[in-house]
Amino acid sequence: MTSSTERLVGVLSEFARTLLTDYPVQDLLEELIRHAVDLLPIDAAGVSLISQRTRPRMVASRGPAAAEFEQLQTDLDEGPCIAAYSSEHPILVPDLAVETPFPRFAKHAREAGLAAVFAFPLRSADRRVGALDLYRTSAGDLDPQDLAVAQTLADVATVYVLNAEDRIARTEFVSSVSHELRTPMTSIGGYTELLSDETAGALSPRQRQFVEAIERNTRRAAALASDLLVVATLESRAPRPHVSLDLVAVAHEAHDALEASIAERDVSVEFDIAAEPLLVEGRAEDLERVVVNLVGNALKFTPDGGHVRCSVSRTAESEGQGLGSFARIEVSDDGVGIPEDEQPQLFTRFFRSSTAETHQIQGTGLGLHIVATIVREHHGRIGVRSQHQQGSTFTVDLPTAD
Ligand code: ADP
Repeated sequence: MTSSTERLVGVLSEFARTLLTDYPVQDLLEELIRHAVDLLPIDAAGVSLISQRTRPRMVASRGPAAAEFEQLQTDLDEGPCIAAYSSEHPILVPDLAVETPFPRFAKHAREAGLAAVFAFPLRSADRRVGALDLYRTSAGDLDPQDLAVAQTLADVATVYVLNAEDRIARTEFVSSVSHELRTPMTSIGGYTELLSDETAGALSPRQRQFVEAIERNTRRAAALASDLLVVATLESRAPRPHVSLDLVAVAHEAHDALEASIAERDVSVEFDIAAEPLLVEGRAEDLERVVVNLVGNALKFTPDGGHVRCSVSRTAESEGQGLGSFARIEVSDDGVGIPEDEQPQLFTRFFRSSTAETHQIQGTGLGLHIVATIVREHHGRIGVRSQHQQGSTFTVDLPTAD
């Protein structure tokens, strides 16, 4: 293998590893064109996204004046980038001094020191999304191997952009469906309450039984819509700023929020929250959700007379992460437990253990998935120890910020 092929193989395998992740597409494209400038005999590069209704929008650029050349094409509505997008073929201009189909771009670009430009379409079998532009300050062709490398990088960029677009479309769909479901659900809930209050007339025992079944299932559907909305928000990857916050204060908020559910049950619940502040980087609303979901589950899966304990403390070490300071949230119960063979699936979407099903304990199967997603976003770890019929302990370790 020649050394440039070797380097391309290295770059491609690095990108292959990130394909299934949800890194921000902008960061990935910037990384990709950084490699384009390293691997190819060019001085600068840029990626612009284009659709049938929009002018090119630059998403990444590298090297002298690349951003300026991308912008120039947008402003003039003319240039190799648009031509590559429209024709779905590479547009190769080894010498801008020779007549080109985009004279206005050529004139301005040459004045800015550009001598050659090579544009490669970002396209798949049935969609096209933009173009990768390679810029050079000296005239001359790219050899066939370089052309192949450039189109390969453009194809990788296409996959990222299409993946990101699909992810956003899916998330927006789930999010609007959950919103739309809320209104009828609230209405069903309201009318059922009126029936249950006997506002519309006395209920026979059989009618009451039916109304109670409607109430139960309305609560269930409302919980599902609300959990789906949380999942969609978490997956949307909209910039979610992390700030320095006190986990101790968050745990007290969670305790307050849980009071009504605790009061409903004959289970003793003990909160043991550190006296000193515990600073972590994150989002208070999300971390409160972690505590509420874990304690909520412990309550749900512990029969009357049982015990639940939630502690929030500083710990010196997190398993497998070496030394360092961590904030630990530990929630334990002596409830129904989770069969060992089912534990690996606990954090996957919609998973409900056989115990939950046998005991007919209601839930959406989304709570732990939400918890695990939040913990991952906070660079933390989550673990579980549990034995069937002996109770469970969930442990979350978050890096501290002090
Ligand atoms: P949900 O509680 O809504 O079903 P979760 O995602 O929160 O969904 O939990 C998934 C499954 O994990 C539950 O259905 C249950 O089987 C199991 N589980 C979670 N927490 C506990 C617990 N503290 N004790 C026993 N089982 C649990």
